[in-house]
Amino acid sequence: MALDTQRTVAELEELRQLTGDENGAQRVAWTDTWARAREWLRDKVAGTGATEEIDEAGNQWFTLPGDSDRALLIGGHIDSVPNGGWLDGCLNVMAGVEVLRRVAADGRAPLTVRLVNWADEEGARFGRSLFGSSAAAGSMTDQDELRRRHDAEGVALPDALAEHGVDLDRATEARSQLANAAAYLELHIEQGPVLESMNLPLGVVLGTFGVERHQITWKGQAAHAGSTPMDKRRDALAGAAKLALEIRPIAAQVGEGAVCTSGGVVCKPGIVTSVVETAEQLLDQRHLKAESLARLLALAKESSERFAAEEDVGVAWQRIWSIEPILFDEQLIELADASIREVSGSSHRLPSGPLHDAAEVARAGVPTVMLFVQSLRGLSHTKLEDTKKEHLEMSVQALDRLTAKALEAFS
Ligand SMILES: [Zn+2]
Repeated sequence: MALDTQRTVAELEELRQLTGDENGAQRVAWTDTWARAREWLRDKVAGTGATEEIDEAGNQWFTLPGDSDRALLIGGHIDSVPNGGWLDGCLNVMAGVEVLRRVAADGRAPLTVRLVNWADEEGARFGRSLFGSSAAAGSMTDQDELRRRHDAEGVALPDALAEHGVDLDRATEARSQLANAAAYLELHIEQGPVLESMNLPLGVVLGTFGVERHQITWKGQAAHAGSTPMDKRRDALAGAAKLALEIRPIAAQVGEGAVCTSGGVVCKPGIVTSVVETAEQLLDQRHLKAESLARLLALAKESSERFAAEEDVGVAWQRIWSIEPILFDEQLIELADASIREVSGSSHRLPSGPLHDAAEVARAGVPTVMLFVQSLRGLSHTKLEDTKKEHLEMSVQALDRLTAKALEAFS
């Protein structure tokens, strides 16, 4: 059976009909709609002869045995955010189904081929993303904290999971699923504007950005707006404002895709008749290289000290969250590049701003790569999310080529 890329688009539309409404996709993990989508997927895969297994974290695996127990993994997630798009996550799963059909029709592959539908990538209901993949990757270290989480209706996370046959206490046993993994492939919509702006259908993902998130507290002196001369002020907002602009030249100086965002400043007392006494500023910095990320942070800290001196205010930094950059496998990046060039003529390499299940798998030491397909207007996590049909079909083709190349390279 040859690859039928039109079938993938038709199946994605079928899934949209089945699990979406006028506001978009409603496949939030650990809900009835999500369970219905998983049953639907089971029926779609049945014809390939792959055997299904649900692991301890609720991940849904379909396995086609090959000459070796070592397995080539293809992954995606069928869960969505509420009012989500029709492609985020499920394109990868359905393209993977089509590739499984082709592999099964070709006879026994040199490696076992496994499709995984990760459980709860989005974390939409309980605020914890990458649930299933982090359990399998061995990086789920927050089970105590997860036990205390509730959704908006007050349902505890362990209870919601239990309704779907998952025991949180045993979730990390899903680790055994990656024991025989030779490589991991994931296709995803870009969810950003880069490929569209370059007029390219497809790109290879180099890895996921490292992130540094800080709260910066500027401390000045509240003073009357009428009676305090301009040169006698200790204005906390002035420091924050200078830094909010300085992160632009800092990002330009470090370069190679560096991004810095000052996403908010809260001023106190926050009234029109007073100089600002306290300004709490949020800063998010991202880069694909660990040294460059460290430099972004160091430069911002240095600048903040300078602005604090200039404005005669205090400044203090507090880390909110951070994660190191996760780089994908060089050999697989080359294979992905070649696959894309075969399908669409030219390729492009780009980092991923958002995290993906692939980042968890890569962290676990499995050689990993991702393909991105262009997103129209860069939109995602909205019903407006879209990709041209011909680009969707090309993405299925590229994933299939990459699968064939990886089967050869890793066997
Ligand atoms: Zn996704």
